[in-house]
Amino acid sequence: MSYRVRVGDDYSEAFESAWGIMAGDSISPALFIGFTYDFNPPFSMDDILLQDIHIVKLAFADDVIFLLLTDAMNPSISEMQTRLTWSEAEYCGRRAFLEISALKSVCCLIGAAKLPEENLTVSNGSQIIDYVDEFRYTGIHFSSNIQDPFLPHYTAWAAKARTAVHTVFSTETFVRSIPVPTGVKLYFALVDPYLIYGCDVVIDVNEKCLRMYEATQHYYMRRLLGLQPRSPVGALHVLTSIPPIRHRHVELELRYARYAIVQPENHYENRAYRDAIAMYRRKQRSWITDLEKAMRKLPRHPVRLDVGLMESEEGIDSLREQVRISCARYLYDELESNRTPLLNPKYLPISRDSYQSVLVLRKFLRTIRIPAHRVSVVRLLCADHTLAVEQLRRRRNPDGSRIEVECRSCRYGDANTETEVHALFRCEGPGDGILVKKRSTFMDQVFEVAGRRLVERCTENGNDDGPIMAVHFFLEHDDLAPIFGKYVYDVLKMFPISAM
Ligand SMILES: [Zn+2]
Repeated sequence: MSYRVRVGDDYSEAFESAWGIMAGDSISPALFIGFTYDFNPPFSMDDILLQDIHIVKLAFADDVIFLLLTDAMNPSISEMQTRLTWSEAEYCGRRAFLEISALKSVCCLIGAAKLPEENLTVSNGSQIIDYVDEFRYTGIHFSSNIQDPFLPHYTAWAAKARTAVHTVFSTETFVRSIPVPTGVKLYFALVDPYLIYGCDVVIDVNEKCLRMYEATQHYYMRRLLGLQPRSPVGALHVLTSIPPIRHRHVELELRYARYAIVQPENHYENRAYRDAIAMYRRKQRSWITDLEKAMRKLPRHPVRLDVGLMESEEGIDSLREQVRISCARYLYDELESNRTPLLNPKYLPISRDSYQSVLVLRKFLRTIRIPAHRVSVVRLLCADHTLAVEQLRRRRNPDGSRIEVECRSCRYGDANTETEVHALFRCEGPGDGILVKKRSTFMDQVFEVAGRRLVERCTENGNDDGPIMAVHFFLEHDDLAPIFGKYVYDVLKMFPISAM
């Protein structure tokens, strides 16, 4: 090969080098695969079979793995040693002129009650390959614990996702506050890839693993929106358009199933997929049973997996649609919580069965550009404000009982409950009349932009429908949203938590 060294815009003279490998070159893996095309170890009775085809090896360029079955109670490595010896002596030594590195190789027994007394060896028994409890192959972490074989996988990728989250928010040192639309893009570019890595193959049926991922996702959304850890989860998704990780995983798994089913019948993924369905029908644990469990555990609206549907593209598409509807209904129902009256779905342009309408980046997160004003609005919407209706929900009477909603009275003494609507449109506020004055200025601006009808809606007495619908009109309006943001910011300052 001929090389040149580049420094800036200058190139050295060309020189020849016959040493080293083309590490890092994108064609290297393909060249290596071509070089080892005839690497086919003999079959074993302990091979894993996919539709009667022996899977003697998995190879990702020079990263090779042998998988063999053995007795869990009395494990033996003799078949593995036979395969390793053949690979080293017959293939690497005589045909390919390669070496197996004992230092870079590991042996892992998954689900074995004990380790065998002997070790795997290479170089005529002179080099020992160590036993390990965990190993990583193509980014997937495996554990020897059959009860939880992928716990290390989730732990490792959750840690990477957390690091990515902190990296994103560390930029606030320079940019002060990340705009929400930018933050959503950064989530999908830098955090989401870690949270979905391998999820289509390694289905998350372990609640502990799922919660690790959810915690990272929720932390990201709350930090981006400026919310405290106890704010309701449904609102986070509905405001940012980021889908819940459980639904996202199941959808990607179904997308993978759709990919596998359209492959030719001799394609390994198609074989593995059909094998998983056959195992499911024989009531054996498989990828399909894990998927069934994941779908059954979707919150509020589980989806039943009909295995018949998994055997056609149309069937899989219909399951995907069911999962999307389950997601929309779950978030819709979450918004009906008493804690978030301003986000009650009856006031929002969303449909209970429409995934696209529920998961939308809300317009006011773009139009209210001043971070403090935007955060005030988000807190008001998401039950993370300083008003008594929320703050006294977290406290108890001296006898330990809940403080009833009717007893969470306004600190300025003019209402039984200090609610969002009361503070915004009805409260008299402190004695100096500052709140009334602010409101009057705000209403004048509303009148100028939108007319008298909207002002009347805000001041409607009786139920809160009119004022809340007016709030959503403000949030959707390009000019009124920033004005409303400033007004909410000013109002909430008059209801400090220290005065509770
Ligand atoms: Zn009041």
